[in-house]
Amino acid sequence: MPSRYATETARRRTFAIISHPDAGKTTVTEKLLLFGGAIQLAGTVKGRKAARHATSDWMELEKQRGISVTSSVMQFPYKDRIVNLLDTPGHQDFSEDTYRTLTAVDSALMVIDVAKGVEERTIKLMEVCRLRDTPIMTFINKLDREGREPIELLDEVEDVLKIQCAPVTWPIGMGKRFKGVYHLKRDVVHLFSPTHGGKIQQGETIQGLDNPRLDEVLGSQAEELREELELVMGASHQFDKDEYLAGRQTPVFFGSAINNFGIQELLDDFVEHAPPPQPRPTEIRKVSPEEETFSGFVFKIQANMDPQHRDRIAFLRICSGTFTKGMKLNHVRIQRDVRISDALTFLASDREHLEEAYPGDIIGLHNHGTIRIGDTFTQGEALAFTGIPNFAPELFRRAQLRDPLKMKQLHKGLQQLCEEGATQLFRPLTNNDLILGAVGILQFDVVAHRLKSEYNVDAAFETVSVQTARWVTCEDERKLEQFKDKAAANLAIDHGGDLVYIAPTRVNLQMAMEKWPEVTFSATREHG
Ligand code: GDP
Repeated sequence: MPSRYATETARRRTFAIISHPDAGKTTVTEKLLLFGGAIQLAGTVKGRKAARHATSDWMELEKQRGISVTSSVMQFPYKDRIVNLLDTPGHQDFSEDTYRTLTAVDSALMVIDVAKGVEERTIKLMEVCRLRDTPIMTFINKLDREGREPIELLDEVEDVLKIQCAPVTWPIGMGKRFKGVYHLKRDVVHLFSPTHGGKIQQGETIQGLDNPRLDEVLGSQAEELREELELVMGASHQFDKDEYLAGRQTPVFFGSAINNFGIQELLDDFVEHAPPPQPRPTEIRKVSPEEETFSGFVFKIQANMDPQHRDRIAFLRICSGTFTKGMKLNHVRIQRDVRISDALTFLASDREHLEEAYPGDIIGLHNHGTIRIGDTFTQGEALAFTGIPNFAPELFRRAQLRDPLKMKQLHKGLQQLCEEGATQLFRPLTNNDLILGAVGILQFDVVAHRLKSEYNVDAAFETVSVQTARWVTCEDERKLEQFKDKAAANLAIDHGGDLVYIAPTRVNLQMAMEKWPEVTFSATREHG
């Protein structure tokens, strides 16, 4: 008999949804939760967002922009599995956050709008998934609307995303003629019955493609379906679990999330086929989820999730071992033991205090400024999980304070918001500027907004003559000191205490690199 640990590990399914904005990620999330029994009423995900809008101005900004800035984690049981769904921000200015979240999942679900096909954000996110051969399931959404021919869409996915498609369900018509989906493997037709909101309506199912009942309810569409399927089965790939797990093939499902339709088929096959927790690389060895000593890494930090409590939460993905309340963990980077008595779990309804968690689960640690993205926690072994990058920002602004008396709050606010990783703070060695670096321009608005609403600091961001930044290291201590001395005007310390070269132009950077060949200039920093 497998141990309780082995059973609990094997039943975890940890994934994220990748899609282009508007394809229906929020709606699919909501409906997965609905079918998972995690919420009674669909609309709760949005409702929850709305409740938070009311309490936070920053959320107001999110609403105005029509984007989802926050990421969260939702856990729900389905059949005998425990599903962990990691939400990712849709807006491209927050893409780093999304990349890092994708390091913490074992598989992904790609949502595609039937009318739009493969869009730009999907292509980017797919590239990220490919770096780790993350298995991907595909849901083609909005079949209740007119869209493109399904066969054409599968061709596009194969051509553009370079992944084989294996249709698992097939749509019967679309738009006004949308009648349901046929499950190729189970040989069952599930008839479409639009249901909005939180009701789950089973709808009629018909066993067997040759069943005369199909002709009764579908009329001429029954024959069309049979002909089309013959073509599809001849021309497309059959679902092959190994190919899927290797990241070379994606099983494809069709449906209409807003109508709660096609989600059940997706979820049933997802919990059956999606991979359980996978091994994860560290600097010295791979950690297998079968190991019973605890290890995990932080992939995300979020400040002030609850504006009432001013908390900062570090999201840790468990890679091995059981987490139990009150256990002592070693924070490897700073070589300190900490007792974790108040970790959070993320049940879909709300955050809750947690007793036990297993590989694949995410726990939330309260962060008092010591935890950084990429940090590893173990039961003593000096491990460092790899592959959680920080990218050099492309845009820079100097923080300018409107009320000089608020300098301390500004420091604190910037330091804490930068821990989240979306923006980075640089303090030059030779002056008192506070320079904020970001990948997307929207970040500056968000930070200004949050400084005001969460820290009561009125700050603006003005242009500064920095074009690019590189983290610098040097094996030779003496050379490094020389470099620091000579290049001081272009050096800064980031919010994690690391040394950074901030260059006014690319040419300047190029020259510095040529002049100091012993110094390593890197555009990404592995956390930790
Ligand atoms: P996200 O930006 O990817 O999170 O997308 P949302 O879930 O917010 O959906 C974008 C828009 O598409 C919203 O107006 C949804 O109501 C709508 N939508 C989502 N799913 C469906 C669907 O199955 N059919 C139709 N007609 N609209 C949908």
